[in-house]
Amino acid sequence: MISVNNVGWIEKEKPTAGPLDAILKPIAVAPCSSDTHVSHGGAGPFENRILGHESVGEVVEVGSAVKNFKPGDKVIVNCVTPDWESPVVQDGFDNNAHDAVSMSGFKFVTQKDGVFAEFYHVNNADGNLFPLPEDISLEDALMTTDMMSTGFHAVENAEIKYGDTVVVFGIGPVGLMAVAGSAIAGAGKIYAIGTRPNCAALAREYGATDIISYKEGNIVDQILDLNKGQVDKVIIAGGNGESFNQALQLTRANGIISNVNFLDVTDVINFPAPLWGLGMSNVTFKSGFCPGGARRIERLVRLIQAGRVKPGKLLNYKFEGFDKIEEAFKMMDEKPRDLIKPYVLI
Ligand SMILES: [Zn+2]
Repeated sequence: MISVNNVGWIEKEKPTAGPLDAILKPIAVAPCSSDTHVSHGGAGPFENRILGHESVGEVVEVGSAVKNFKPGDKVIVNCVTPDWESPVVQDGFDNNAHDAVSMSGFKFVTQKDGVFAEFYHVNNADGNLFPLPEDISLEDALMTTDMMSTGFHAVENAEIKYGDTVVVFGIGPVGLMAVAGSAIAGAGKIYAIGTRPNCAALAREYGATDIISYKEGNIVDQILDLNKGQVDKVIIAGGNGESFNQALQLTRANGIISNVNFLDVTDVINFPAPLWGLGMSNVTFKSGFCPGGARRIERLVRLIQAGRVKPGKLLNYKFEGFDKIEEAFKMMDEKPRDLIKPYVLI
């Protein structure tokens, strides 16, 4: 990212590792809609910032205090890389990690250069890198770094219980993972809202019981009709400020609305008080993004190893070669209708 709305290659010095850090070269990377969002100024007017935060890489250098990794090790890199000694992390918040500033544990791109580089820097290597297992695919591994972690975090925040009725707004990669996570968590009904045919097919494969399309009428009416009333939990993984209004219409008293959608600075969340039971409904709003660190990746990897989910199925466009990152990024930005998620093998 050279400047807002201007993306291209830039020359930078190779980063250096502090005592706790590692320098990696990428093995596989995936562009994300949050990279394209940032490139259009969605997180601030960055200049000369390397994009990219989803990667599997090879360690090329480690700092003097790194204990668990050495050059040549292949690793999964959580896209959220907190400094684990931070007091806020010790309070249990690893994504909004530093002085409780929103997204402060998310360092790639928002605070420093990202992973679409010949070499990239990872702080706190022992806390944030996980060894690439031999028994899962590179695609599955790559999707643990953000998409699976974020979608599953939406499920964690929604506190989904056996038999819950759940609505998932959006069946892009994160929404699809929220569907898969809801199914694993034991949801009874999963209403997934979206229109793209291949995403709808994958949503069903991941466990959606019903696909709801805007094209077939008011989505709220369709779901209230099918469910014979409001649902227990709503996950927002796509849409805009208006989705919160719709989510409130869909959520029963004492339910939970869990947002993982990265809203735009221009979005406004606005709803009439009666939808929230005049403030008495006990409906909870939760918001967040993927938790950080190696242990998080380890837990997601276990689900893949157990055969419970194949997040690599999200990756339906493959590019090969470092210089193809630009093409993959542009594809993510333009989102052709059959795209779920592109990736690049370096
Ligand atoms: Zn991402």
